[in-house]
Amino acid sequence: MNRRGILVVVSGFSGVGKGTLMKRLTEKYGHYALSVSATTRAPRENEEDGREYFFRTREQFEQLIAEGRLIEYASYCGNYYGTPCDYVEDQMAQGRDVILEIELQGALKVKEKYPDALLLFVMPPDAQTLETRLRGRGTEPEDVIRARLSRAAEESQGVEQYDYMIINDDLETSVEELYHLIESQHYKMSRNLEFVQQIREEIKTFAKGE
Ligand code: 5GP
Repeated sequence: MNRRGILVVVSGFSGVGKGTLMKRLTEKYGHYALSVSATTRAPRENEEDGREYFFRTREQFEQLIAEGRLIEYASYCGNYYGTPCDYVEDQMAQGRDVILEIELQGALKVKEKYPDALLLFVMPPDAQTLETRLRGRGTEPEDVIRARLSRAAEESQGVEQYDYMIINDDLETSVEELYHLIESQHYKMSRNLEFVQQIREEIKTFAKGE
């Protein structure tokens, strides 16, 4: 079997619970590598540099772009967000499945660069739940909440480009769905053509009685 890791992109509207989902997935199934993005947004109260994000100034971020050190980057509600290359490449080469939790524009750029990437979109059960969760978080002022809701309306136009959706109603169910979707990618024929070829050759040899 092809042991190179799968590149998994998880997106979803702000407030849909992606962070909680990722946390639970990695607690339950420890073998995933979660990429840490760089951003120019200010840290939230409980966030740490290098854990949730690499918090950078605009100048520093633009330097990363100039040096070609990001797989993709996008601007989201006035801030830059981007995925550093090195970690993702190293982890995949070591056979670990890597998860990027990024927004839609970045996800589409990843798909261009890595056509085998699995694109998953996390949906709320309904719009009301999304708004309630976004407000309930209590970390953002009203104008930021509004900006994030209008961004969600925009993003909802592009979701058909993802491979699968997960409706995040019950956390444990969503975690299981996510896990099984990722696992199934390892068994795709297109990822295992070398193995198929090897079996084919071996069967031919047996058929000839050699
Ligand atoms: P937040 O400010 O809520 O942490 O993230 C805002 C949005 O940026 C979320 O949709 C999140 O998935 C996305 N995001 C986080 N990191 C990256 C990244 O490296 N690249 C892109 N394109 N989006 C990101």
